[in-house]
Amino acid sequence: MTKAVKGTHDLFGEALRYQQAIVGTARSWLEAAGASEIATPIFEKTEVFERGVGASTDIVQKEMFTFTDRGGRSLTLRPEGTAGVVRAYGEHGMKVWPQPVKLWYAGPMFRAERPQKGRQRQFHQVGYEVLGSTHPASDAEAVSLSYFILRDLGLTRTRLKLGSVGDAESRQRYNQYLRELLTPYESELSADSQRRLQTNPMRILDSKSDTDQGLLKRLGVRPMLDFLGPAAREHFDAVRKILDELGVEYEIDPTIVRGLDYYARTSWEIHHDMLGAQSALGGGGRYDGLSELIGGPPSPGVGWAMGIERVALAMQAEGVSPAPGKRLDIYIAPLDASLVPAALKAATELWPRLRAEYSLSARKPGKAIREAEKRGAAYVGLLGPDEAASGVITVKKLDTAEQRTLTPAEVVAWLTEGGLE
Ligand code: AMP
Repeated sequence: MTKAVKGTHDLFGEALRYQQAIVGTARSWLEAAGASEIATPIFEKTEVFERGVGASTDIVQKEMFTFTDRGGRSLTLRPEGTAGVVRAYGEHGMKVWPQPVKLWYAGPMFRAERPQKGRQRQFHQVGYEVLGSTHPASDAEAVSLSYFILRDLGLTRTRLKLGSVGDAESRQRYNQYLRELLTPYESELSADSQRRLQTNPMRILDSKSDTDQGLLKRLGVRPMLDFLGPAAREHFDAVRKILDELGVEYEIDPTIVRGLDYYARTSWEIHHDMLGAQSALGGGGRYDGLSELIGGPPSPGVGWAMGIERVALAMQAEGVSPAPGKRLDIYIAPLDASLVPAALKAATELWPRLRAEYSLSARKPGKAIREAEKRGAAYVGLLGPDEAASGVITVKKLDTAEQRTLTPAEVVAWLTEGGLE
């Protein structure tokens, strides 16, 4: 049998309930904060990511699903959500809306990474973007929402690591420092990092190569945070002060660099203690120059994305379950095969107030009850010729065996008064 592509997964049953719980909790917090949902296309022109995420990043160099369409255009399945949202903000003139514009999204992302636990080729993210503000309160708001959502989902073993990647000028000085430090050891670096030494030395810091990481440790590389200029430092201190006032717990991580070029100033990651190597639940940061990079109007922004599958793994590791799936309210069984259409009609009269299924074949009462139990229904509806003729159903509550003959409207009333809704 042909199977799903490696690194992609079918979502149903419990796995889907986790996704829905995570997106539902995120939605309630983000909408409460004034955000509207946005759904951008799953593919974009490749340049949106090349320019936005950065040509020297792992994502662009190795992980994008890029293809040429029939018109010879290069398109890419989105590896992340921010670049598309920022493109949409510029394209639809959202710059003239009352600022800041707050948008949230949830959906699939695609990265051609080696599949392993917590790392898929199609995965899902929920994300939040605040566009049109440079105020440190916007950074603190975004950080705190990511923190509150994970806490509301019941997670306790998370660690919020906060840092700053500085502004363009501080990054230039840091890149210069890294180049001077690492050039004498160039031959010890991986081929990718040798290239990055010329183009973007900061990207060496998030290299996945063990030898690169070993060398960095041996050399005792100074962190980005040491290189912040006065403006970036002031912004960072202001964000920290607001987070302290909000009661958000975080630790300063001076080494945070994030794997995307568009970040500037505040950046953060949230990790979980019980997830092993792929411990990042989400991350975000400020991206003031991104809009211009992809040809849009200058528009500062700050935002984050969380990996939904990773958050689900963290919930499982901590023993937090999503709400159980809604059980079947009633299973309607016709006593005669000719009454199948009548059973369907009865079901349509119960929808959508009740979750009702009907049998496609005749069932004797005993068999109907067993079928209803197998499907997890709370009630069984029996439909014989007499009931069909007078437009009623004989309904039995399975746990107490209480039985009533009722019209569909009365069935809805009886079942919902028992707290089924
Ligand atoms: P990033 O934009 O790379 O920081 O990703 C944000 C979050 O998405 C990460 O912290 C992970 O939780 C999740 N994520 C990123 N890549 C993958 C992947 N290949 N499979 C599953 N989750 C991922």
